[in-house]
Amino acid sequence: MTYQELKAEENQYVMNTYGRFPIALDHGEGATLWDVEGRRYIDLASGIGVCSVGYNNPAVVSAITEQAKKLMHASNLFTTAPMVQVAKTLVTKTGMGKVFFANSGAEANEGAIKLARKYSFDRYGAGRNKIVTLLNSFHGRTVTTLTATGQEKFHNYFFPFTEGFGYARAGDMMSVEAEVDDSTCAILIELVQGEGGVLPLDPAFVKAVEELCRKRDLLLMIDEVQTGVGRTGSLFCFQQYGVHPDVVTMAKGLGGGVPIGAVMAAKTCCDVLGPGTHATTFGGTPLVCASAGAVLSIVADDDFLQGVRDKGEYLKQQILAIGSPDIHGVRGLGLMLGIIVDDGRHSEFANKLIENGVLAITAGKNAVRLLPPLTISYPEMDEALAVMKQVFKPQ
Ligand SMILES: *Cc1c(COP(=O)(O)O)cnc(C)c1O
Repeated sequence: MTYQELKAEENQYVMNTYGRFPIALDHGEGATLWDVEGRRYIDLASGIGVCSVGYNNPAVVSAITEQAKKLMHASNLFTTAPMVQVAKTLVTKTGMGKVFFANSGAEANEGAIKLARKYSFDRYGAGRNKIVTLLNSFHGRTVTTLTATGQEKFHNYFFPFTEGFGYARAGDMMSVEAEVDDSTCAILIELVQGEGGVLPLDPAFVKAVEELCRKRDLLLMIDEVQTGVGRTGSLFCFQQYGVHPDVVTMAKGLGGGVPIGAVMAAKTCCDVLGPGTHATTFGGTPLVCASAGAVLSIVADDDFLQGVRDKGEYLKQQILAIGSPDIHGVRGLGLMLGIIVDDGRHSEFANKLIENGVLAITAGKNAVRLLPPLTISYPEMDEALAVMKQVFKPQ
């Protein structure tokens, strides 16, 4: 089928909830993708940070195919080895306590919110349930995680929203302190606001948030759905911020392309959710955990993570070296980067890049967002940079 034929059927049969780019993707290899009409693209988007170890990665493909032959799903009424192995790797590489598996980022955050409220209920009784998040954050699309998301544009249509959230300004401790009161049980933050525009938080601010959490026995919960699993050049972004979160959520890059999410809790609160308090049919199913295990066997490695930091630095420097007046800067960490352009022109540039064979996405109001597979090669990056030189106005 051609793109036009597929699009016509999509319009007829699929709910129109996305403004999709006008191509239909077919297959990939490394960080290179082909569409249904055979056009080739360098992929700097990786399905929104999901295909973290590239397309047709041999370790991931063989883990999935071997597991598919053995056992794809068992439900959480039984124990399975791939799930235990992924949890063990996550815990031993971070010094945290235990893991709960979900199926997406929003669901992982739902689990974190439930954990925080129950932690507080167990210790202090009812009424201490407010969660403070940051303005411009993004935490998901369920009714509760939409409420957690600190952007007014998401708080429409679906009333009533979940009670018990407050929003503070990133980088502003006075604002955080003003939101925290006796009913607060947790603070939930991204360390690099992804959807909000690829905005890294100030490390001193994050430290101060951690201190406030310790002082008032609030759970420090870090949404690493986008920043986690190597994306920012450390296995988790909190590790380079030098803080000790109580709860970390993850999803996107963890499965390398299959849907998986997880809530990881520190030893001090990892037994809060006991039998009957939280569950999901698919969570931790062997097929996706086999894939996540293969991803972690690649990414949870110091040399690999150094490679991510090196590639991120290379991309950033080479983009700045284009010297285009269209480019006002590059921000982000590791291979989570935003090319800053004039407000409102990010979609125009993303579209031009795609027309010229480079997949890039947008974030916030002025960022062309780059989330390439962490395994992208230098020749692939150079090819993408050559396209950027054509798309952004020369000096
Ligand atoms: C993408 C994202 C989510 C939501 O994840 P889904 O898998 O789409 O539910 C939550 N938090 C952050 C930081 C994200 O980037």
